Amino acid sequence: MSARTPAEILARDHEIREGTARLFERAMRDRRTPPLAALETLARALGAVYRDIARAHLDPAGCPCGWTPGEGDLRALIEALRNGARPAQPVLPSLQGMEPVGRA
Ligand SMILES: [Zn+2]
Repeated sequence: MSARTPAEILARDHEIREGTARLFERAMRDRRTPPLAALETLARALGAVYRDIARAHLDPAGCPCGWTPGEGDLRALIEALRNGARPAQPVLPSLQGMEPVGRA
């Protein structure tokens, strides 16, 4: 298995973010659900997914990948949520990856 490139990681993150935005829109579809209530629904769903995945990895007949849930998992998820909510930092482009255009 080869390591993912930064572009592949960005593409995957973008795809997951778009999918999550679609779920948020679905949670708001009734036009009466406050945005924070819809986000809380998504957060509870993510917690339930974690619970199911953790259970599958504790089951001796479950997933054989070797990961096991740990005490700090929920703290890490909460920190990831906090980091995701922070204002985005401006992305500075790398000059090494740029194609020169035109001449001076
Ligand atoms: Zn696994």
